[in-house]
Amino acid sequence: MSEKAIPYKIYLEENEMPRQWYNVRADMKNKPAPLLNPGTLEPMTAQELEAVFCKELVQQELDDVHPYIDIPEDIRNFYKMYRPSPLVRAYCLEEKLQTPAKIYYKFEGNNTSGSHKLNSAIAQAYYAKQQGLRGVTTETGAGQWGTALSMACSYFGLDCKVYMVKVSYEQKPFRREVMRTYGASVTPSPSETTEVGKRILKAHPGTTGSLGCAISEAVEAATSMEGYRYVLGSVLSQVLLHQTIIGLETKAALDKYNIVPDMIIGCAGGGSNLGGLISPFMGEMLRGERDYQFIAVEPASCPSLTRGRYVYDFCDTGMVCPLAKMYTLGSGFIPSPNHSGGLRYHGMSSILSQLYDDGLMEARSVEQTAVFTAAEQFARVEGILPAPESSHAIRVAIDEAMKCRETGEEKTIVFGLTGTGYFDMVAYEKFHNGEMNDYIPTDADLQVGFDGLPKVEK
Ligand SMILES: *Cc1c(COP(=O)(O)O)cnc(C)c1O
Repeated sequence: MSEKAIPYKIYLEENEMPRQWYNVRADMKNKPAPLLNPGTLEPMTAQELEAVFCKELVQQELDDVHPYIDIPEDIRNFYKMYRPSPLVRAYCLEEKLQTPAKIYYKFEGNNTSGSHKLNSAIAQAYYAKQQGLRGVTTETGAGQWGTALSMACSYFGLDCKVYMVKVSYEQKPFRREVMRTYGASVTPSPSETTEVGKRILKAHPGTTGSLGCAISEAVEAATSMEGYRYVLGSVLSQVLLHQTIIGLETKAALDKYNIVPDMIIGCAGGGSNLGGLISPFMGEMLRGERDYQFIAVEPASCPSLTRGRYVYDFCDTGMVCPLAKMYTLGSGFIPSPNHSGGLRYHGMSSILSQLYDDGLMEARSVEQTAVFTAAEQFARVEGILPAPESSHAIRVAIDEAMKCRETGEEKTIVFGLTGTGYFDMVAYEKFHNGEMNDYIPTDADLQVGFDGLPKVEK
């Protein structure tokens, strides 16, 4: 093997870790559309938002102006337990693919919660603690966000109430138990513990729940208990802000070796890891300093960017949350039950939606068997067992590297490897047993979700 001028893993020193998050909205000419009050259809005021969210987080949510926001020291100290995360040169994958492309991935799976979600969980728990709250409520699907938040809350001694989508609660007991280990209480959603849960159960008896439904319950629980606020693990601009730690570290590591990527790829569920990874690079592009190609990868079974509409929509099924303008499939959209790859939220971050609408970012959708094929190929040469969500990015990184093999171009590809797949072995099992299929919603399927969109002339 030839000598490698660039190490397999580029680590930053602790003191090279970013001290500020980067707020890409400050550099966007077209700002993301504001959240609207679902009753009045006027932009949500800070005061209205503070009934649901922590005060400082509301400031971050509404801040379109300040490019840099200090990371408080307590958060930086927590980050130091598992960050900086490595930027890995995928030499083994490159060799296997026989590609002239240079592939790097930023690995966020090196913490107990197993994904990037801890980066925002710790920030949100910190601000809740600062505000003197007793606890927070949230929703979780497969459980990554709930796990990350329980870790963060136990660190600051906050109570944590998690509404977990019922089907996952029953089928994925391990994450549930990790959450309980960290002291969180976990309720299967929809439940009888909230009015909205009762309403949904009455309308859809036997439902196995959805993220949108669990969000409604968590918001109701937060607003009806003294000393609680609601926190969310993706989609919101504040979450994307916290996740810029990923992109800032990536950029610092690349800069150390004078590497300039051509293309940056990430999976997109609600958009927080992708937004966090690309933000500093997008900032350079928005300021006219450099050009990059950005690619969002989503499942063909939940294609909000590639087949959704850019309109105001509800963020939750119970329609208790503010309206957000985003690429969406409609809050009533629920992906096919045989979809195993995560990334199942109906909408997309309003920041990424605006950037995509402005033509600054591309999006691709990929089918799940192709995703698991890429996951396995990656695991066998790079060692890491990737989360199905992350494997969407792997799929497109491999596709792009194979194109370089055809053309001989030595492109530099960076992708986000958001987490590990240890808790997703049932999905891997389905794949290995040939029981996984690629159901793609028809236009008629999608129309059902679009029919439920609110009528907002903005
Ligand atoms: C939650 C999650 C995602 C998707 O969320 P985004 O907000 O789109 O980043 C991706 N990968 C992993 C491992 C996750 O847990």
